[in-house]
Amino acid sequence: MEQVLNYLAQNRDRYLAELKEFIAIPSVSSQSQHNADMQKCAEWISGQMNSIGMQNVQIMPTGGHPVVYSEWLGAPGKPTVLLYGHYDVQPVDPVNLWTTPPFEMTERDGNLYARGTADDKGQVYIHLKGIEALMKHNGGLPVNLKMLIEGEEEVGSANLDKFVKAHKELLKADLVLISDSSMFAKGVPSICYSLRGLSYLEIEVTGAKSDLHSGSFGGSVHNPIQALAELIASLHDKNGKITIPGFYKDVRPLSKKERDAFKKLPFSEKQYAKDLGVKQLYGEKGFSSLERVWARPTLECNGIWGGYTGEGAKTVLPSKAFAKISCRLVPDQKSDKIAKLVEKHLKKIAPKTIDIQVRNLHGGEAAITPIESPGVQAAVAALEKGFGKKPLYQREGGSIPIVVQFKELLGIDTVLLGFGLPDENAHAPNEFINMDNFFGGIRTSVHFFNELPNYWTTKGKKK
Ligand SMILES: [Zn+2]
Repeated sequence: MEQVLNYLAQNRDRYLAELKEFIAIPSVSSQSQHNADMQKCAEWISGQMNSIGMQNVQIMPTGGHPVVYSEWLGAPGKPTVLLYGHYDVQPVDPVNLWTTPPFEMTERDGNLYARGTADDKGQVYIHLKGIEALMKHNGGLPVNLKMLIEGEEEVGSANLDKFVKAHKELLKADLVLISDSSMFAKGVPSICYSLRGLSYLEIEVTGAKSDLHSGSFGGSVHNPIQALAELIASLHDKNGKITIPGFYKDVRPLSKKERDAFKKLPFSEKQYAKDLGVKQLYGEKGFSSLERVWARPTLECNGIWGGYTGEGAKTVLPSKAFAKISCRLVPDQKSDKIAKLVEKHLKKIAPKTIDIQVRNLHGGEAAITPIESPGVQAAVAALEKGFGKKPLYQREGGSIPIVVQFKELLGIDTVLLGFGLPDENAHAPNEFINMDNFFGGIRTSVHFFNELPNYWTTKGKKK
């Protein structure tokens, strides 16, 4: 192991030079003028995969930009990791806000600036070099590995679903590893083990069959805007709890271990409120802000409209009012079930003075890879060795659809090993990856593949 780590230290300059080359290919998936660059970028990765000793390297066509696949299956009896990443990047506009050219990787203040350094080319490259070092020194890997690097993540992974469905056998693995996210803060390595799901609904409330004059009719009919506002206001009680019966029924409670782990994160509620510019924080009583955002479900009104909203006054008593409602969900809530509960409840409590329609617009499931699972524990051990510091546990309030897809299509959990930072300017001008995170990431990659078989055998198979 020491040899491998020495090798990493000796090759720092080469890593930077190669990453610079990778970054210089403007692989913007959303802009057709870059189609040739997308192909070039796929070829660059397949060249890397071949040179580090991956096998069955293929650039595989999809309905859009190609997927780059490779594998190394020389560790019978050991777990198989499916490493997912993406080589496409976001557009760079507005270019004038970049301090240095977006596709010319530049080192500044201990950071590497350029489009794709953090999201996600830099993080894909981190693993290529971890794998390379292991291959070089051990003639192989401690685990079986499949790499799936797609070119359409930034345009919603439009063809990935189909691709995974069509290649289920090829992609069969024990767990997914994704490095396309951030640590909690600079110098605070962390492991994210859960993502929230979503139910998104639209409500339409109808009163009279057409708009009315508020002078002639005001006082005789229930204004749909008022009725809708009353309905929405009733969905939370004074403790910030959602009042829909059954809403919390399937929520997997936070364990004491998790709550204690969140408390260790360097987070100040006061500073958080100040950063957001709110006078006071709000949320479900009995939980901290991090717990509410990561591990408790919510119901938010995302938009509400109706009546007259133009310039000046118009004395209208509108016929209709609308609202968009989204619920962020946590394990083990199910998106469709929640949508039905919300609809049922709204219809039940709706006053007889109006008609109400509820439409389920879209949804997605939450994901969790328990902190006791072998994959997460191997990642924790790897981060500790790679960064010389025990990592902390965190969840994420948003969703990463691909994680849910892998769970649904391949039946496997994902380990999110992110080496970015929350302020890395992903999708914005001056994107960067911190150099300590970059080199620490390569060390962590080596340790992860090394550690995984230990946890896999001693703690049993999949949780
Ligand atoms: Zn990404």
